[in-house]
Amino acid sequence: MKITIVYKDLSLQSVNTVSFGNKTQRVSLSIVNEAYPKTPESEFLFSQFGTMHLVSPLLPSHIETVGFSLVKPVRELIQKMYRSCGKQAPHITHTGEETRVPKRKRAQLRKEFSIIPFSGGKDGLYHYVKEKEAKRVPHLVHVRNMNLAASSSETEWSLKLAQFLKEHLDIAHLKNGTPKNGFDTMRSRDVFLVALMVPYAITYSAQNIVIEGFADEGEHECFSGQEKHMIAFNKLLNDLGFPVRVRWYNISEWQVFKYLIEAYPKHLAHTSSCFAYPPLKNRMQRKDCWPKYPHFPFFKSQCGACFKCYMANLARIVFDGRFSCPEHEVTRYIEAADKWVKKKIRTKGHYFADRSLLHLLEVAKEKMKPT
Ligand SMILES: [Zn+2]
Repeated sequence: MKITIVYKDLSLQSVNTVSFGNKTQRVSLSIVNEAYPKTPESEFLFSQFGTMHLVSPLLPSHIETVGFSLVKPVRELIQKMYRSCGKQAPHITHTGEETRVPKRKRAQLRKEFSIIPFSGGKDGLYHYVKEKEAKRVPHLVHVRNMNLAASSSETEWSLKLAQFLKEHLDIAHLKNGTPKNGFDTMRSRDVFLVALMVPYAITYSAQNIVIEGFADEGEHECFSGQEKHMIAFNKLLNDLGFPVRVRWYNISEWQVFKYLIEAYPKHLAHTSSCFAYPPLKNRMQRKDCWPKYPHFPFFKSQCGACFKCYMANLARIVFDGRFSCPEHEVTRYIEAADKWVKKKIRTKGHYFADRSLLHLLEVAKEKMKPT
């Protein structure tokens, strides 16, 4: 399969249709809001790492770019991504002018400023409070449509949480015309997300970009979810003349919950980490989940019974000394979580055998055992 890509104004489009599953379509990726910093640097980064993100769910055997080219280190990174998926490295060609890294005075970035990709969930909150504790100044940036399934509610909750924190929230509005290929789109996600943050780092003179850590990295982890690839990508950015420091805290998801429950319980209640898309969430709240546990203190953002909701609520049951709910309801909730996880692992596979979720389940079951 060959894909031919044209770049213009923070927008990448395929000229030809590409096939995925039993469909064919043109694919595209664009930043559509005026507020996104538009500079030679941001255009360069978008064309390079946007191309990587555009091809990542499809992995075509031939990538042709028109009017721009992929610079050597980016070509090598893309080839590495293919090989990590067990695919042969693609043939990469271009027509028209060769792209060069924009030359400018090296940006003076300050180590006390940080950029935090923010989607209204617990991780962005955790990074925010940790940066504050370390006396750094965090700037919050939300990428709309990074996660297609939950994008509208993510934006809503990012705004609400930023308002609660009394912080300004920058929004990069992404329009993603790539087929939803489930976890395949995660292959390049973290690399692309960081690349979208770099223009904000330059705008705010921030040296740090704080992303999720890799403590829960499993053997099936996707390409950009692996720590070694993020380390290499950080070096690549530096070599290209973007002296940012991509940083992360390597602690497990359950430890993030424990920390926030103990130190910032009110903040946590303002987060959203639910995987259900809005109509489903609505049905779960009205009918399929909440009414089964009439006294259970669900957060407003929760459906109550998805991967993320189970994780958050099990953590609250385990770590929150002020958690108030009749014991029989808590026990039933834990049983439901246990059944759900076992079924998912059986039917959907390894992704659901998440270390943090399994750990929380065990501790919660232990806690509720009759003594
Ligand atoms: Zn949920």
